[in-house]
This record gives sequence, structure tokens and C-alpha cells, in this order.
Amino acid sequence: MCRHLAYLGAPVGLHDLLFGPPHALHVQSYAPREQAHGTVNADGFGVGWYDPGHAAPLRYRRAMPIWGDSSFADAARVIRSGCVVAAVRDATPGFGADESCAQPFRGDTWLFSHNGAVADDGALADRLTTPLPAGVLDARTPVDSAPLFAHAMRLWRKGEPLGSALAAVVREARDCSAGRYNLLAADGERLAATASGDTFYTLRRPGGVWIASEPLDDDPAWQRVPDGHLVTADRTGTAITAIDEGRGAR
Ligand code: GLN
Repeated sequence: MCRHLAYLGAPVGLHDLLFGPPHALHVQSYAPREQAHGTVNADGFGVGWYDPGHAAPLRYRRAMPIWGDSSFADAARVIRSGCVVAAVRDATPGFGADESCAQPFRGDTWLFSHNGAVADDGALADRLTTPLPAGVLDARTPVDSAPLFAHAMRLWRKGEPLGSALAAVVREARDCSAGRYNLLAADGERLAATASGDTFYTLRRPGGVWIASEPLDDDPAWQRVPDGHLVTADRTGTAITAIDEGRGAR
């Protein structure tokens, strides 16, 4: 099980976001508090962020633990962004640990991350990857998360709510394969996430909104997203709806 987070709001430094809080993603990589499957997230990490000068999100991924890449920690001090998705990975048994498997995945203007595992990858892959979306290289990654991303890329339409597509991916995935499907996505202006088998929390403070596998600090304002629910957020508000309702509010 991995840990991941997304942030949307006033531009923040990546170092402040990923290394600053007492229980930052960096800490969650070696000492997660709520991880039910696995103990450390040492099989790679990735950070995707939006920059006003670039239409598509930028990305940094490595196959090593985030705590081992001190050069990234330095570079993160000078990178700022108002929309970020980051993940630390504990590879699901049977899948490799090369950089291509580190999430978030990127397609067009979207970032996507999957925390969980697919119980029967064959059935799900057959159903969700046919046909593979054209030009989306990460949809071909040899990991169980890739078919979920492939299907999300087929369902996403520019400008339309992110969350409804994410919820549809989870519903279809659950239909054909038992598994844990905590999905997280961003398009630069909105975030969406599904709690389906593992934890998700969200926090809104003046200036920004966070969605994370576990809280980054002990602020009681962190709100648990109930299992089976979709959380969507933009700059003005957050909504939590049942995945089975079939629609995202934002
Ligand atoms: N199944 C995904 C992978 O192997 C996600 C793993 C996880 O959530 N630990 O990368």
C-alpha cells in the first residue's frame, strides 16, 4: 500500500508540502501511521506539479525511496506550485520497482495515482485497457494501477468534472475484480479522490485544500473520507458523495 497526497491552493514550496509537516509524506514513506498493508514505502516515489508556464504538469519520479534522494529534497526548495500530486510506493507483489511504476501517472493535463491493489489483474486489465488510449504512455506501465489509469483517461473530458470519471472507474473495477481502489487525480484546478479499501482524509484551510492517505499533522480539522465515497475539491469548496451515486459535484 502506498501513501499519496494532493494539494490545491495558493502556491507552496514542494519542500514545505512534502517534507515540512510533522507527518509529511516523507515521514509517511518510512513511518506511516494508518497503513494497513505493508510497512514502508521504499519502492519509489513521484511528484507531479502544475506550473503556469506549462500546459501539462511537470513530474519528478525515482525508483528509490524518497528519503534516499537528498538531491530532490534540495531541488524541492526552489519549486513552487498551486496544484501537486505526490506518492510514495510500496510495490504490490508481482510488479517491478522501476521508475515507470512510480506514480503519479500523467496523461494530457491530468495526474493520477492509485493506492491499493487489484486482486485479479487479468480480468480487470482485459476489460479496462481495450482499447488503450492513444498517446498515453503511462497507461502501458506494467503495474496493476495502469488499467485503472487507462480507463480514467478514456472517460475524462476536458473541463468536465474529474470526480465522476474517477467514481466510474472504481465502480467498473469493483464489478470485475476485488481490490482496493483509492484513486487520486488532479487537473490543475480540481482534485478528486475515491476512498475504496483504504484511508483518505481531507483538510481545507484558508488558502488551500489537501487530500491525503493520512493526515500530515494533528490538526483536528482533518476530515476522514468514509469508505465508498468520492471527495472532490476546487478552489471554493469540497464535496463528499457516495461513489455509487455516480456523479462528482465538481
Ligand atoms: N498496486 C500499485 C503498485 O504496485 C500501488 C501499490 C500500493 O498502493 N502500495 O504500485
